[in-house]
Amino acid sequence: MSTSVLEPPQVEELYRTLEEKVRALRPKEDLTSLDRAYRFSAQQHREQKRKSGEPYITHPLAVAHILTDMQMDLVSIETGLLHDVVEDTPVKLDEIREKFGEDVARCVDGVTKLSKISFANREDRQAESLRKMLLAMTSDIRVVIVKLADRLHNMRTIDVMPPERREAIAQETLDIYAPIAHRLGMGKIRGELEDLSFQTLQPEAAADLMREIDAKRHQHEEFLLELKADIEQKLQREDIPARVQGRVKRAYSVYLKLKRQRITLDQVYDILAIRIITDSVKNCYAALGVIHNEWHPIPGRIKDFIAMPRPNLYQSLHTSVIGPGGMTFEVQIRTEEMHKIAEEGIAAHWKYKEGSKGPDEDDQRIAWLRQLVEWQRDMSDSGEFLSTLKVDLYSEEVYTFTPRGRVIVLPREATPIDFAYAIHSDVGNTCVGARVNGAMKPLKTTLRNGDVVEILTQAGHQPSRDWLAVVRTSKARNKIRHVINAVERAKAVEIGQKSLEKEARRLGVSLGRISDHDLQSVASDYGVSKTEDLYAALGFGRFSARQVLQKVAPEEARRTPPEEPLPPPTQKGEAPAPSPGSPLGDKDLVIQVKGADDVLVYRAKCCNPVRGEPIVGYITRGKGIAVHSVQCTNVQKLMYEPERKIAVEWARSASDPLPVRVMIYTDDRPGILHQLTSVLSAESSNIRTLEARGDEKRTDHSAIIEITMDVRDKKQLERVITAFRRIPGVRDIERMQSAS
Ligand code: MN
Repeated sequence: MSTSVLEPPQVEELYRTLEEKVRALRPKEDLTSLDRAYRFSAQQHREQKRKSGEPYITHPLAVAHILTDMQMDLVSIETGLLHDVVEDTPVKLDEIREKFGEDVARCVDGVTKLSKISFANREDRQAESLRKMLLAMTSDIRVVIVKLADRLHNMRTIDVMPPERREAIAQETLDIYAPIAHRLGMGKIRGELEDLSFQTLQPEAAADLMREIDAKRHQHEEFLLELKADIEQKLQREDIPARVQGRVKRAYSVYLKLKRQRITLDQVYDILAIRIITDSVKNCYAALGVIHNEWHPIPGRIKDFIAMPRPNLYQSLHTSVIGPGGMTFEVQIRTEEMHKIAEEGIAAHWKYKEGSKGPDEDDQRIAWLRQLVEWQRDMSDSGEFLSTLKVDLYSEEVYTFTPRGRVIVLPREATPIDFAYAIHSDVGNTCVGARVNGAMKPLKTTLRNGDVVEILTQAGHQPSRDWLAVVRTSKARNKIRHVINAVERAKAVEIGQKSLEKEARRLGVSLGRISDHDLQSVASDYGVSKTEDLYAALGFGRFSARQVLQKVAPEEARRTPPEEPLPPPTQKGEAPAPSPGSPLGDKDLVIQVKGADDVLVYRAKCCNPVRGEPIVGYITRGKGIAVHSVQCTNVQKLMYEPERKIAVEWARSASDPLPVRVMIYTDDRPGILHQLTSVLSAESSNIRTLEARGDEKRTDHSAIIEITMDVRDKKQLERVITAFRRIPGVRDIERMQSAS
């Protein structure tokens, strides 16, 4: 049994004082849940000890004390008691929810998630992202406040941490938690976090400075005491009700000042500070007048944060004056309300008020945030805090993690595939699955703030074309397309070569007689540079094997061949294959309604189906039958009236072309238009309209080309689009909803 550490009765005593404090604050509230939270936490942590040897429960109890001193609500205090239970014991979140309700469970979950992430040892430029993320991933701001209280206690007891971890913890506190406390307006906590970190990170500088400040302490204290009495008297004479505080500034803020201004302690104007807290804004300015009337203000040191509040809503008048005996000091003047905000920030809004119940206070909190955002809009130098809040209110980005805690920032609605490509192209290309927060999830899952994503890869795996529809980052899209194109091209080359061999056999042309040189010259006839490109073009169906053979071996190829199994796509200059005539005798009828000949049929503009796609008809009111693609989203909606659905099919014989509109996103470079139109003329596809424009919204030299073209069927459309995609500089192609 150890003797120097707290024994159970003393731990119990720690809880008793907590309960008394809470009861004094909230005399009307039922504290049984607080008691249960303490007992449950103590029970769960009973086997654990802090590194000092004290029972672990002393830590959650201390955190709860801090939260109580901040006058936070019961949910926060209970969260403080339970904050390490899910992290450090086998208890599951569900049990917390069952026992302590949804709010406490949500907050405990939030604190647990934050605890899993190490924000330490980051580069400076990541600190801002990390702070944003920390705020973004907490849906309840109380999570952040509990976390700050947790960190404050850890910093106060940093000596119980292993020495090699202290520095990282202190650095993280300085980089992440102190600035967050600052942004939330919690000046008191920020100051303490900074000083404790300073002492850990630079023990010598901190000790020197504190010794120096200490050496003058007696002198300072005497000076402040006299000054305080003097100011009180002067204010009284002017009928300004006020309380006056005198203090020596915090070590870390003095240190920063010395460093920034390269001055010595004697030259720091505001190591001594007087604070005047009065009843109204009017009296703030009146008090400033009194001070300036008595002592000489130092030029450039007067700041009106009442008229121009700081981004974190801090308000005060600041001035520095040359006092008695040439001693300079700073004066801060504010109202009680401003003082409360300056010290406690957002936490001030959880304070218990007699007679006012929950919802009212909730409104206040939201009003506070809203006001914050409002003010930010009018201020020029406040981008930082606004963007922080923006993350929360109108989030454009999601902050996710690798299992090792690296932050991956992705656009909204990004998927694990984007995540994989953000890590490395190889990870993206070989990714076969994803574990999100430990559970297997489909690759198309939308990632959310705080998700920990683990990508499963398999060597040799290749990206699928379907991924293009679910990725959100251009990096992923480009990489996927690159691989798909390479794979498809390799396939096309193989198919092209085989089809040439097959056709040669069929026509009795001996391929042995055809030299590579011959093929090369045909290739250049077709405007491609290598034989391989010629095979690829054959494979993609851009021209037929027979056409190629006619060029290299005109004699043999001209012999009347047996019927070709499939007609090749028509060549440039030729008219589209004429329709042999529809059995219905109506060339215009490209769609027929099963069992009804004489009805008005039209393609629905929303999906604009082309021949070859599965279609369904819908009887409109007075406009005939609208034909949709089965995949059209509108079709699902039409199911509300299933009796109006009717079976339709593409008329077998008719091959009249149908207009389809596509948007092509490309690099803005000369020659692209020509290549696009060559594809269409090679397909004998008629161009109805073509419009090209630079994309003004983007600065990366991109262009959008919009083409309405005629296609015979789905196959031809796919062929055209494949050929488009192969043109260097084409980034994306989108088939538009309507043809006109
Ligand atoms: Mn903790």
